[in-house]
Amino acid sequence: MDSDIRRSRRADWLTDDLVPVRELARTFCEKELAPNLDRWRQQHHVDRELWTKAGEVGLLCLSIPEEYGGGGGSYAHDVVLLEEQTRVGDNAGNIAVHNVVAAHYLLAHGTQEQKTAWLPRMASGEVVAAIAMTEPGTGSDLRAVRTRAVRDGDEYVINGAKTFISNGALADLVIVVARTGAGTGGSENISLVLVEAERAGFRRGRVLDKIGQNAQDTSELAFEDVRVPVTNLLGTTEGQGFQQLMRQLPRERLTIAVTAAVAIETALEHTVRYTRSRSAFGRPVFDFQNTRFRLAEVATVARVVRTFVDDCVDRHLRGELDAPTAAMAKWWTTDRAMDAIDECLQLHGGYGYMTEYPIARLWADQRVQKIYGGTNEIMKEVISRVL
Ligand SMILES: Cc1cc2nc3c(=O)[nH]c(=O)nc-3n(C[C@H](O)[C@H](O)[C@H](O)COP(=O)(O)OP(=O)(O)OC[C@H]3O[C@@H](n4cnc5c(N)ncnc54)[C@H](O)[C@@H]3O)c2cc1C
Repeated sequence: MDSDIRRSRRADWLTDDLVPVRELARTFCEKELAPNLDRWRQQHHVDRELWTKAGEVGLLCLSIPEEYGGGGGSYAHDVVLLEEQTRVGDNAGNIAVHNVVAAHYLLAHGTQEQKTAWLPRMASGEVVAAIAMTEPGTGSDLRAVRTRAVRDGDEYVINGAKTFISNGALADLVIVVARTGAGTGGSENISLVLVEAERAGFRRGRVLDKIGQNAQDTSELAFEDVRVPVTNLLGTTEGQGFQQLMRQLPRERLTIAVTAAVAIETALEHTVRYTRSRSAFGRPVFDFQNTRFRLAEVATVARVVRTFVDDCVDRHLRGELDAPTAAMAKWWTTDRAMDAIDECLQLHGGYGYMTEYPIARLWADQRVQKIYGGTNEIMKEVISRVL
């Protein structure tokens, strides 16, 4: 689909310096990701070398300053990579969690030593990062986390369990949401603690069997008397974790919305192509008025979603994306994406239900977008608080 269909005007964030980044990302995705996706789905994780290959060509930590080994770009650079990944159907190695989420927790809240120690190794792919908030007993209610980091001299002793952690099986560094003070509830005692995977007592559970995103190593993690130095606290002050999460979550939610926008466009492309080539009753399926009207509706949704997402990306780049707007983008675009992809799947008939068809994988892969990053119900809570 050409850009005239996608956009009514060129977005401010789409500057000319992104052209070579897009070319690099497209080549990488087509050469290194697309041919391996089926195999990765079978094994439930990417090859570890993917990360070092991405680091070698400069696609990791694109929006981290060069002084920390990053690409020195902006969030727009991350968006370009994400768009190209989504177009080839990739959500395997969760580069977005590494680039857009984990690296920015370190950049925004880490001490100078933490940034220098971790960001260059994350940029090279030597270190894969994950963030572990969710626990078996709590996801939406982050204030209820039970994982504890108890101070013992110059160390924290961490005990607890996390689940649904993206990059969990391959991660070398996990940013763990833990309770550092007394008490079992409330946000004031929550801190983020850096845990290296080689620490004694750190255990990975199984890679979870999911209905989609099957190449993604979403895992359970356990912490049994894991000792880390107190310098592994993200930042310098205990109890800042909740504020740190609240500051970073809008970027994560916008990133989910970007993926939703590209997923709708990709579904539309697949479906136009398929319905033109498939015949029923002696003519292409595309020629039925129902098909053309449905696709016209999806094209309209794609345009409106893209316009909203472009606006949010522009706002984020100006430092003006507030939490309720990010929440609006997250819930609304992921809801629209599921509706649109479902329509597109229907137009594929039985083939749409076969996992060898991209539309089937897109449908299954996108479903979780309404759930992770804060469920769409929680997004409406966030919005309603400012009404
Ligand atoms: C594939 C995948 C990858 C993930 N990756 C990560 C990761 O890398 N790191 C991480 O920390 N987590 C990750 N998660 C976890 C994800 O963020 C949580 O699943 C999500 O936040 C929901 O939490 P929960 O599953 O405990 O659901 P619950 O909180 O138990 O919610 C169950 C239902 O109740 C609803 N609900 C809850 N509270 C309210 C309320 N106040 N008002 C209205 N409805 C409500 C929810 O919307 C939902 O419909 C991942 C999840 C998946 C599936």
